[in-house]
Amino acid sequence: MKALVCIVLLFVVELSASGQSVWQGKRSSWLGAENQKNDIGIYNEEYKKFLGNVTTELTSTSEAIKILESAGFNEFKDDAQIQSGAKLYFVNRERAIIAAIIGTKLLTAGSRLIAAHHDSPRIDVKARPLYESSGFALMQTIYYGGIKKYQWANIPLMMTGRIDTKDGRRIDVSLGAKPDDPVFVIADVAPHSDAPLRDRKYTGVFDGEELDPIVGSIPSEKGVLTETMHHIAALYGISEEDFVSAEISFVPAIPPRDAGFDRGLIAAYGQDDRLCSFAALRALADIKSAVELTAIVYLTDNEETGSVNNTGAQSSFLTNTYATIAEAQTSAKFNENATRRALRNALVVSADVNDAINPLFMGLSEPTNAARLGYGISIKRYGRSFDANSEIIAKIRKMLDDNRIPWQTASYKVESGGGGTIGGFMSRENMEVIDVGVPILSMHSTYEISSKIDAWNLYRFFGVFFR
Ligand SMILES: [Zn+2]
Repeated sequence: MKALVCIVLLFVVELSASGQSVWQGKRSSWLGAENQKNDIGIYNEEYKKFLGNVTTELTSTSEAIKILESAGFNEFKDDAQIQSGAKLYFVNRERAIIAAIIGTKLLTAGSRLIAAHHDSPRIDVKARPLYESSGFALMQTIYYGGIKKYQWANIPLMMTGRIDTKDGRRIDVSLGAKPDDPVFVIADVAPHSDAPLRDRKYTGVFDGEELDPIVGSIPSEKGVLTETMHHIAALYGISEEDFVSAEISFVPAIPPRDAGFDRGLIAAYGQDDRLCSFAALRALADIKSAVELTAIVYLTDNEETGSVNNTGAQSSFLTNTYATIAEAQTSAKFNENATRRALRNALVVSADVNDAINPLFMGLSEPTNAARLGYGISIKRYGRSFDANSEIIAKIRKMLDDNRIPWQTASYKVESGGGGTIGGFMSRENMEVIDVGVPILSMHSTYEISSKIDAWNLYRFFGVFFR
C-alpha cells in the first residue's frame, strides 16, 4: 500500500514538473538530430531507390535477393549450410523470402525475427481482361487490398507481373516505369458533364467495375481489340488465353520523391509495407559480426488480402524454415519438439506501417494515442484484437530507451476504423510477438507519405533488436 502511494506521488511530480503529461512533452525526432542528418539522407536515398525498383512482392523478392547476395548471403540448399555465422536465404515461390544469420546459440535457445509484408494495395488484371467500349480497348480489373478507388483514376499506371504459358515459359512484365514507356490511365469524366454522378458517396466515386484502364485506341480492319492483342503478342509472345495463368497488376507509375521544402518526407507508392521490409533487410544485411541468437527476416505476401495462399503469413513456410534450422542443428530429423521449442523461444517484431494524425482531418484520430510523423517508431496497441504481452512491450521499451531511439504509441480512435497485420499468425505458433511500425500519411493510397527520420529510426531499432 505504501509503495503504491509512492508511485502515485512520483507520477504527480513528473506531471507537474513541466505542467503537462510526459507525452505532451515529446518533441519531434528532428530536434537534436543535427549530426544524424547525413546518415538519414544516405539511408533514405537507398530506400527510395528500392521503392523505385519494386512494384509487387515478385520484384520485392528479386530485389531482396540482390541486397542479400551483395551482403554475402547464399540460398539455402542443404542442411550442411546451417552452421553458426552462416548467412542464408530461403525463397518461397518467388513471392516470400526468409533470410537468416545463424547464431552462435542453437535456434531452440531463442531467435530474433522481424516479419513484414511486401505486397501493397493495387489493381489486378482479371483472367479475361480485354474488352472494347466506344472504340477503346480496356482491361477488366479487380482491386487488391483496401483502396480508395477514386485515387486510381487519372494517374499514370504501369503494368507489372508475370505470365506463365502452357509450354512452360515464364514471361516477366514491366511496362510504364521508364520515362519513354507508355502508361495506362483510368479515365474520369469532366466536371462539365458529371452532374448525374455528383451525388455519389465518398466510397463510391468510382465503382469497382469502373476501374478499367484504357490499353488501346488505334483499330485495324478487324477492330481495336484485335489490334491491341497484336501489340501484346508482339511484346510478350502470348495469346489472349494466357492471361488466365498470369499475375498482372497495375500500380502507379510515379517515382518516389522527397516532399516539402526541407525534404523531410518521402512520397511514394508502396511504402506500406516496403518501409518496414526494406528496413528489416537492410538491418540484417548490415550485421558484420557474429550474433548470439539467430537473426531472421521474413518478408511475406498477401497481407493486404488476409495473408492467404501458400505465400502469405498463414502458410507454413515460416514454421517449416524454423523446423529446417532446428532439426539440422540438433541432427534430429522430424523432431517436432525441437521446432516447437524454437518457436516458443522466438522473439518477433511484426513490423508494419500505421496511420498517422493527418493535419487536414484531425478529428479522425484520438490525438492522445495516435502517432505523429517524425515522432519516432510506433509501438502498436490495439486493445481488442492481437496485442503483445505487457512484459514484452516493457522489454522493447527498454531496448529503445537504452539506445536513444525515439518512439511513440499508436492506437485507433475507438469505433472509427481499425486494422491489423501479420503478428497474430506468428502468435498462433506460440512465438512472442510485438507489433511495431512507423506512422505514415495517405496510407493505402497511390502516393503514401513517410518521414525520413522515422524510417531511419526503424532501421536503427532493427539493428539493435538483432544484436
Ligand atoms: Zn501494411
